[in-house]
Amino acid sequence: MALLGRTNVGKSTFLNALMQTKVAIVSNKPQTTRKRILAIKTSERGQIIFFDCPGIHKPHYKLNELMMKAVHDALHDADLILYFIDLAYPQEDDFVISLLEKAGKKVFLVINKIDKLNKGKVLDKIQHDKDLFPWQEIVPISALKGDNLGLMEELIFNYLPEGENFYPADEYTIQSENFFVGELIREKMLNWVEDELPFTTSIKIEEIKDRGEVVYVRAEIYVESRAQKKIVIGKNGNMIKQIGQQARQTLEEYYGKKVFLDLFVKIVPGWRNSNQVIQEIFQ
Ligand code: GDP
Ligand code: MG
Repeated sequence: MALLGRTNVGKSTFLNALMQTKVAIVSNKPQTTRKRILAIKTSERGQIIFFDCPGIHKPHYKLNELMMKAVHDALHDADLILYFIDLAYPQEDDFVISLLEKAGKKVFLVINKIDKLNKGKVLDKIQHDKDLFPWQEIVPISALKGDNLGLMEELIFNYLPEGENFYPADEYTIQSENFFVGELIREKMLNWVEDELPFTTSIKIEEIKDRGEVVYVRAEIYVESRAQKKIVIGKNGNMIKQIGQQARQTLEEYYGKKVFLDLFVKIVPGWRNSNQVIQEIFQ
């Protein structure tokens, strides 16, 4: 099944909460999730396979086209779509509804972040949206606080087709180590850099080597200009130092041992329009 919705509505938070482990990075910056991530949840009732899509938006760069292609692929492959909304931000209903109509799949409308809202507002929204599309269910949740997540899991199982498990029960994600490690570093970077940078920065893993006692990771932060490089490095290298320290701590938790992290900033003008660079990053 696919998690769909604009960027920042809480799809990755929901996935991590339901998986009870971190499979997708979370940030308050837009366009955090660039690649479709596959997570697998196995319980007594069966197996759910999740695609966490990049946020829906109109494509301008090759990178964005690639992200929208991931959205279309996920819609095509899914049996069930969870369409997430956040009442704090108006969404372009028409664009999404036409995507959903084309997909022809079962869809839940998920109203997330209800911890921030009063009940009346949620009820008004349900009233307003209930006829926009033939939703199978409309479910108000808080991914952050965990409200209605058990109910969501039940409902998901109710609507998924029966069948054999696709993956072994102890498998919970399928993404390359390079990609996941890059995402962990990118998450830390997004905590520090200015709002405009997430669109123009990316992490390229050059090397991961397990040397027994320590894991050695060498990564490049791609930026598009000198000015951006200056922001990421920061005054006296303070910014990159902070990013590196936080990222190293997260990687040490992930590997369960010491990590030596080498971080470089590299200017690659126009990388968002280079197929080769995009493919290297999404390897
Ligand atoms: P995505 O882009 O849709 O994957 O969104 P993320 O999962 O990265 O979340 C974006 C931001 O919304 C993060 O700062 C989350 O902590 C926050 N968030 C997610 N779910 C909730 C929720 O239920 N309540 C509140 N208050 N914040 C949430
Ligand atoms: Mg996300």
